[in-house]
Amino acid sequence: MCTVSAVAEPVSVEDALAQVLARAAPLPGEPVPLEKAAWRVLAEDARAVVDLPRFPSSAMDGFALRAADTPGTFPVVAHVAAGKPAPRALLAGEAMGIATGGVVPEGADAVVPIELVTERDGAVQVPAAAEPGANVRPLGGDVRAGDPVVRAGTTLSPSRIAALAAAGVARPLCGARPSVAVVTTGTELRPPGETLGDGEIYESNGVMLAAVFRSTGAEVAPHETASDDASAHRAAFERGLDADVLVTSGGVSVGPHDLVRGTLAELGAEEVFWRVAMRPGKPISFATRGRTLVFGLPGNPVSSLVGALLFVVPALKALQGSLDPTPPFRLGVLGAPARRNPHRDDFQRARVEVSEAGAVLQPIEGQDSHMIVRAASADAIVHVPRGDGELAAGSSARYLPLGAV
Ligand code: AMP
Ligand code: MG
Repeated sequence: MCTVSAVAEPVSVEDALAQVLARAAPLPGEPVPLEKAAWRVLAEDARAVVDLPRFPSSAMDGFALRAADTPGTFPVVAHVAAGKPAPRALLAGEAMGIATGGVVPEGADAVVPIELVTERDGAVQVPAAAEPGANVRPLGGDVRAGDPVVRAGTTLSPSRIAALAAAGVARPLCGARPSVAVVTTGTELRPPGETLGDGEIYESNGVMLAAVFRSTGAEVAPHETASDDASAHRAAFERGLDADVLVTSGGVSVGPHDLVRGTLAELGAEEVFWRVAMRPGKPISFATRGRTLVFGLPGNPVSSLVGALLFVVPALKALQGSLDPTPPFRLGVLGAPARRNPHRDDFQRARVEVSEAGAVLQPIEGQDSHMIVRAASADAIVHVPRGDGELAAGSSARYLPLGAV
């Protein structure tokens, strides 16, 4: 077995994240049909194929005419349906019926809504003066052909998908979805549904980590579980190292059954750091082999979750080309005092109570890192930065919402 350092100083949370992101260069882009592009990250600026609107169009069902002619009574010389060109230009003193989205005929500069007029015997009576441009959506008022619709590095939310469709972009170039292998380690682990023997527990990190990573858009293979045995570790890690990202859980501390770092080193992974000055989640390791990023998360479920959110999720976003892959912390207010530790950052589980004071962060009972059921009642992970003394209730604090990766 290869030896790995047991004396390295823990790195700070900021340094650890910077080291991860420095090694998470975007994967090549691929064209993706819009139906499949939701929540993908755009790899290059997407530019409008057409002006939007493509022609001056009516914002209302009504009558197109010249504002300067109003008020008055006008012969209705034609009707413009949506999807058809105007039959001819409009002349002074004329009106044309027009549907919402219809092409405003040349010569017209306003549309009077149908509700405001009286129609009789092929003529329309317009009682009040219309403003020039009223109810006319100008050509290119939303975007001009060739201008950016969505910027590179942006996640394609539903409104952005619609914007691309409207501007004629059929297959935007998106960052490839990173492949992720998850290997949970521990001889004691059994899948839920099976009968537990003495000393055995149900395995919970695999499904949790897979769910977190899938929510970033990554392609996560079904997780494997390896017993605390070097050959089982080796076999599972060898397979996992073919992925863009290998994430292990458990076995990353200094106990005699903690085989993850040694096995990874044997397989040629180069360790970048081990141990981060944080709680929970201190014994996290990060290594690379070729272009594969390898995260060794601790086995305690809450530690595993926090490590995944702080380091693996940003890596998965960066691999997809996200402009800002760092964890999406928000600002809230502590609902209870928090003691600071001079040497490490703490991440407390809390419930978020929205009030006039903003998001008030109430720490949950049961902050131990094995307490996944207690942690499951939390909405947020609150960052208590290292330092001296206590943060008073009411101090502002950053928190990471749970459930919105
Ligand atoms: P380890 O990091 O391997 O020392 O594990 C720390 C604690 O987390 C031990 O109590 C393990 O039994 C538990 N644990 C490790 N892996 C998992 C897992 N995949 N699911 C649930 N608990 C785990
Ligand atoms: Mg273990």
